[in-house]
Amino acid sequence: MANEKILVTQSSMPPYEEYIEAIKPLWESHWLTNMGTYHKELEEELKQYLGVPELSLMVNGHMALEMAIQAFDFPEDSEVITTPFTFVSTTHAIVRNRLKPVFCDVKMSDGTIDETKIEDLITEKTVAIVPVHVYGNVCNVEAIQEIADKYNLKVIYDAAHAFGVKYKGVGIGNYGDASVFSFHATKVFNTIEGGAVAFSDHKIYEKLYNLKNSGIRGEELVVAVGANAKMNEFAAIMGLCNLKYLNHAMEERKMKDAYYREKLRQIQGIQFFEDDLEIEKNHAYFPIIVSDDYSMTRDELYDRLKENNVFSRKYFYPLTSDQACFRNKYKKCELNNARWLSKHILVLPFYEKLEMENIDHIVGIMKD
Ligand SMILES: *Cc1c(COP(=O)(O)O)cnc(C)c1O
Repeated sequence: MANEKILVTQSSMPPYEEYIEAIKPLWESHWLTNMGTYHKELEEELKQYLGVPELSLMVNGHMALEMAIQAFDFPEDSEVITTPFTFVSTTHAIVRNRLKPVFCDVKMSDGTIDETKIEDLITEKTVAIVPVHVYGNVCNVEAIQEIADKYNLKVIYDAAHAFGVKYKGVGIGNYGDASVFSFHATKVFNTIEGGAVAFSDHKIYEKLYNLKNSGIRGEELVVAVGANAKMNEFAAIMGLCNLKYLNHAMEERKMKDAYYREKLRQIQGIQFFEDDLEIEKNHAYFPIIVSDDYSMTRDELYDRLKENNVFSRKYFYPLTSDQACFRNKYKKCELNNARWLSKHILVLPFYEKLEMENIDHIVGIMKD
């Protein structure tokens, strides 16, 4: 046991024979990409699963986010209020659209953007809010929508962690003007690499289609300046196969999450984000807060686990606003909560097939 490496996550995969069987038709059709049969099928199935009116598949979550922002045609150098407590892709997507991120602090209770601090950051240049449902914790979608309505701003959610999450019984992809999901290998639902934008305005579908398909609208007709961000058929088939096992995977995760929590509750100084009973979770990650009451710092715990072949991750440290490419370049409010969290957060190994003994082993190290 002690010699076995336990990584922070393990990609979900369908049974080998099932995937092989599912990709066989591609050897007859030779249709490997360009919005083929399986691309269409997955788009339909995901609309159903997520309970959203419109969805556009993409090659990965980053391009989905970049294009979701681009689809709204914001003027260059406009400001976008966002969170620094996220994967760097969120900030990259804003900056690569020639927009300026304005960093807002987050809440200690769940790590999502602090909606009470958004209004102070709004200027005449503000065009949008890009909040993140970090670890699948749901932002205050109602308060954010109120602010957006009051100041006529768009809301584009980075929902990369929130696949399958529901808030008040409604699929998370229904909030804001668009929500972006990632189907990267490490996410709760994967297509190897992949992503999608969910939205309700059909005009956005046309925009995204042009953006992801080189603006091509006919053999001799290009109507927009696009990129190439289409999902291929092998990826779509992986998604269709994985989707069949998703409910089972979620049940496994739920059980393991409860087991982990029960064991860790006995350890002084290990804390969790607050539970919100109105959220139907996806248990995508297992973040803990290593408070000052614990016997060592977060970094010491990270090292101790690593010495024992347990590979946790400091998600999200450093804050994206502190990364070399963004540091001191953009406006921000005091980021006290985000800074504190990024120094105390640790994401422990967590995946569908994680063994109970592995959880016992990890908790054992943390107790010593
Ligand atoms: C994974 C992730 C992305 C990007 O998704 P990819 O599919 O890896 O490109 C964006 N935002 C957040 C918060 C993520 O965790």
